[in-house]
Amino acid sequence: MAGFRVRPLPFPELRKDPVVDRWVIVSTERGGRPIEKTPSLPSQSSWCPFCEGQEHDTPGELLAFRSPGSPADGPGWWVRVVPNRFPAVRLTSPSAFGAHEVFIECPRHERDLARLPVGSVCEVFESYRQRLAFWRADGRLAYGQLFKNVGAPAGASLEHSHAQLIVLPMVPSDVRAELDAAKQHHIETRRCVFCDLMRSERESERFVARSEHFTAFAPYASRFAWEVWVFPDRHDPHFDAITPAERDDLAGLVRLLLRRLGDALPQPDYNLVLHTAPFSHSPHEPYHWHLEILPRTTQAAGFEWGTGFAINPVPPEQAAMFYRGSADDSLC
Ligand SMILES: [Zn+2]
Ligand SMILES: [Zn+2]
Ligand SMILES: [Zn+2]
Repeated sequence: MAGFRVRPLPFPELRKDPVVDRWVIVSTERGGRPIEKTPSLPSQSSWCPFCEGQEHDTPGELLAFRSPGSPADGPGWWVRVVPNRFPAVRLTSPSAFGAHEVFIECPRHERDLARLPVGSVCEVFESYRQRLAFWRADGRLAYGQLFKNVGAPAGASLEHSHAQLIVLPMVPSDVRAELDAAKQHHIETRRCVFCDLMRSERESERFVARSEHFTAFAPYASRFAWEVWVFPDRHDPHFDAITPAERDDLAGLVRLLLRRLGDALPQPDYNLVLHTAPFSHSPHEPYHWHLEILPRTTQAAGFEWGTGFAINPVPPEQAAMFYRGSADDSLC
């Protein structure tokens, strides 16, 4: 935790997520079990199938933003989406029916989205939108899980900046839990639970940032040190309904948050997860899409696996203060 000193809490706190039935222990005492710095992933000096010029090392492209006239599966692109060579699910599998795609986010070898110019990050989010819209229109599958694994502790096997989309025939249980809670809250109050949450978090110590169209905060029951969530101010269940102005604004905010995370943790390892509504949901469902940034600084062990409880060594209120840039007194 270079550059940041956590102020100890007087005692560990047991916290429940305000929306779903998920518990965490916020404990500054143990400092967490830091992840051993694993040997770094193959870098530019070794072979990388995602670098421009290596297009023959990936399956043929499903989508690419490339200069006019440049042929498919050759150089000249800035974002490229291909099927995963080692898919977790396949359209042709009777038991694991689905699709698995990889978004190669830049032609040059960069580890992190945060290092790309903001215009490139806008294009990356546009590629996410187009593939999710494609699968929603396709109609054969139920849910698209878009995520990024950055760094070996977060599950990445390649260093080159990329995201993945796994399209599933069912709705995964974490999203199902959020959907059920949102439905229940709507029955009781006629309001969206996430609109309510965002409104209260803007006034809390966990508030991180507001851009033109988005609100970011460190969730009350953060599972991870420096966890941060980003919600669109405009209520919409589906990410792929994002407008061009919202998309560009989101790209700028996410890039800023990741750069800020890099100030706390050099070369941060993290997962980025998009939660959006199942494809079949109408625009009137009480769900509200959002992004979750989940830094990986500690290793889950027996207690965590046995209980499903996370142990978080950085109180979200302190993480938020750091993101807001008002944590100078904590910097060492
Ligand atoms: Zn590369
Ligand atoms: Zn809402
Ligand atoms: Zn979520």
